[in-house]
Amino acid sequence: MSLTAQSVWDNCLLFIKDNIQPQAYKTWFEPIVAVKLVDKALSIQVPSKFFYEWLEEHYVKILKSALHKQLGDTAKLVYIIKMENTYGNKQPFTERIPSSNRTGVKSQDVDVPFNNKSRELKNPFIIPGIRNVKIESQLNPNYNFENFLEGDSNRLARSAGMAVSSKPGGTSFNPLLIFGGVGLGKTHLAHAIGVDIKDKYPEKTVLYISAEKFTQQYIESVKKNNRNDFIHFYQLIDVLIIDDVQFLSGKSGTQDVFFHIFNHLHQNGKQVILTSDKAPVDMQDIEQRLLSRFKWGLSAELQTPDYETRISILKNKLYRDGVEMEEDIINYVAKHIKSNIRELEGAIISLIAQSSFNRKEVTIELARQIVEKFVKNTKREVSIDYIQKIVSDYFQMDVDTLQSKTRKRHIVQARQLAMFFAKKFTKASLASIGSQIGKRDHATVLHACKTVDNLSSTDKQFRKYVEDITKKLSV
Ligand code: ADP
Ligand code: MG
Repeated sequence: MSLTAQSVWDNCLLFIKDNIQPQAYKTWFEPIVAVKLVDKALSIQVPSKFFYEWLEEHYVKILKSALHKQLGDTAKLVYIIKMENTYGNKQPFTERIPSSNRTGVKSQDVDVPFNNKSRELKNPFIIPGIRNVKIESQLNPNYNFENFLEGDSNRLARSAGMAVSSKPGGTSFNPLLIFGGVGLGKTHLAHAIGVDIKDKYPEKTVLYISAEKFTQQYIESVKKNNRNDFIHFYQLIDVLIIDDVQFLSGKSGTQDVFFHIFNHLHQNGKQVILTSDKAPVDMQDIEQRLLSRFKWGLSAELQTPDYETRISILKNKLYRDGVEMEEDIINYVAKHIKSNIRELEGAIISLIAQSSFNRKEVTIELARQIVEKFVKNTKREVSIDYIQKIVSDYFQMDVDTLQSKTRKRHIVQARQLAMFFAKKFTKASLASIGSQIGKRDHATVLHACKTVDNLSSTDKQFRKYVEDITKKLSV
């Protein structure tokens, strides 16, 4: 029996599944795709860099044991990180990450998994069939309409997409151009349309491709002197989905070839779906004749989702993952991550991860820390005065009382809490905090912080104070 990447990985999974919690398995191992096995090196594809880091940090041991069991002590693991094209950057579709030595990961020349290596094929997407040539659609079934939640921000694009998928090539939405900022769902929606078409019209040839990959293939075809095969291949397609067409800007050769393919498809009643991070009017270095083609059909914008939509996206995600989370926390995340659905999802995934594997309770404070990592420029500096005000209000005393010299227990506690939060939420030094909260010295502030730390781990009531105030300070 010969070993394949899939069979080796399947056996690793059996072992891993037996040794970790089901939720962890589902979150961190199910999304992994075994890509290839060369000698003793197994390449696996993971959905993001965050994902890779998480695996390295938490599961490196088990991965190592699992792989060693399968391939012996010289086994190596190679991660392939699947990257989305983000705004304007020129990163390749996949990235090679030489990991730390811990797993003995080695860096290799790895390519996207579906890229067919055999020489005789003119195009990587063609699988030689017995009678017909079959073209793999490269669609991701996880990106479908069902989990593409509707909201004001995406209603037009979503329903145009559905119209297109029920009658590909048969509506005036041809091409359908979906545009909008990073992480707003362009790729998801584009796949959803393709997936739905494949569902309704299995005989139709659908192809999803990023503009970047399209460009690479084109350049390759020029090098190999088979530009015509490249064009013919694309002219065979019934539904062509090209993601991130802004990538074509400045690439006149690729634009030219795309222009011809586009015209051919359009004239023959085939559907073209495009996505872009800009509206056609704002696209630079794209030829006019191509731009005017883009405008023939419908340009539908994906806008930033409103609060309600963000909430439902979060709830849906939690529901699908079978995780329960307090309303407060969901609201907090939805409130603070506004402009990017990918970040919204990222934050909730981190929260789920923290809660289910580190057995940390999901508190507002934890949510705050995580959200902060996702949202850039959240440096909404809270002032020490404001903290004193919130803490005094909470204990129904005035700020003067909080600052007074008294040793009454509840006042001392309030003061210590104010110091603790000042340390936590501001960049002020211990000395400066002390001087602003009742003219104390830095040692007193340090002592206060330690006391609060201790009490919040031993005293339930006290922990509630900390949480309540954190919540107030975070809104
Ligand atoms: P873009 O291509 O615009 O950068 P993506 O399509 O990659 O964005 O979307 C980013 C993430 O947000 C994906 O995980 C996607 O599933 C999710 N997402 C985007 N829009 C929605 C939506 N309306 N409902 C549910 N999930 C969404
Ligand atoms: Mg995208």
